[in-house]
Amino acid sequence: LADKSADIDVSWFNAEISDEFRQRNDRIRDLDHAVERGEIESHFQPLIDIRTGRTAGFEALARWHRPAEGMVRPDEFIALAEEYGQINMIGEEILRQACRTAAGWGDGGPFVSVNVSPIQLQDPTFPSMVARVLAETGLPGQRLELEITENALIKDLDAVSWRLECLRELGISIAIDDFGTGYSSLSLLTKVPFSRLKIDQSFIRDFGRTRESTIIVDTMIGIAERLGLMITAEGIENAGIAALLAGRSAMLGQGYLFSKPVPAPETTDMVSRYWTATWMACPSVLEFG
Ligand code: C2E
Ligand code: MG
Ligand code: MG
Ligand code: MG
Repeated sequence: LADKSADIDVSWFNAEISDEFRQRNDRIRDLDHAVERGEIESHFQPLIDIRTGRTAGFEALARWHRPAEGMVRPDEFIALAEEYGQINMIGEEILRQACRTAAGWGDGGPFVSVNVSPIQLQDPTFPSMVARVLAETGLPGQRLELEITENALIKDLDAVSWRLECLRELGISIAIDDFGTGYSSLSLLTKVPFSRLKIDQSFIRDFGRTRESTIIVDTMIGIAERLGLMITAEGIENAGIAALLAGRSAMLGQGYLFSKPVPAPETTDMVSRYWTATWMACPSVLEFG
């Protein structure tokens, strides 16, 4: 009998590949016009002081309303925009919406934190663009935070640090996002003028649950405290974790426990809200620690 196992039917497989390929190409093409067509919208997720329950800030998170498929999450289009040249336009649009919305929260209102792509930081005109947006929207620099990842610092560290220094002159603070997940060393913390460290949700999720994550989070908190950096813990999904973190240090918490990212109009009710701190009554039993 002839061995037929080599005659695998690959037609379904090819169809799937080309579908994916076509969708990717269509998205790249549509991204060229997304900003001018008003399809890029910033949503906002509150950042809560986990010891007082006060809303201290919001993170701006990009959404793309693509007519052909509905709402597209950033994980599905930011990397494409970085590769195909639309990221500067999209980044500026999100920054402008974020600053305009934050200005609307009133004097002394919460700050807004905006993600910045490594590509944007390669642009020598980035600081002057930010200054222009602040002037246009009337938001004081002190109420703007920019989040950068470790990967933003791999290339041209000197030039990038200089640009960050210029932004600090405007009163803006710089946060290091997804800390502990990139390919860089702790020495970065000494080379760049950060004011906040954002602990990645992959560590927060298992805080108090696995020995490794508990040690890593505790160590990050220790580093931040001793370097005088403020802390945001990302991805807090339950009261138990919030309670544990509140017991550890002062910090801001971000996560579905408090709220998912919401469109700008829905931030109004959250601006002066004190979140009933149910998590503070939660028994904070550490399994590891
Ligand atoms: P990020 O900056 O680390 O933002 C936090 C992400 O975690 C957001 O996803 C947020 O919705 C999600 N998140 C918050 N709390 C929870 C939680 O309790 N559980 C879970 N499972 N997730 C939670 P999102 O909005 O999909 O954004 C994904 C990433 O896309 C962001 O991660 C950021 O790296 C990037 N991004 C978003 N907006 C922009 C932007 O305007 N510019 C750039 N360059 N990147 C952006
Ligand atoms: Mg972020
Ligand atoms: Mg983050
Ligand atoms: Mg993250």
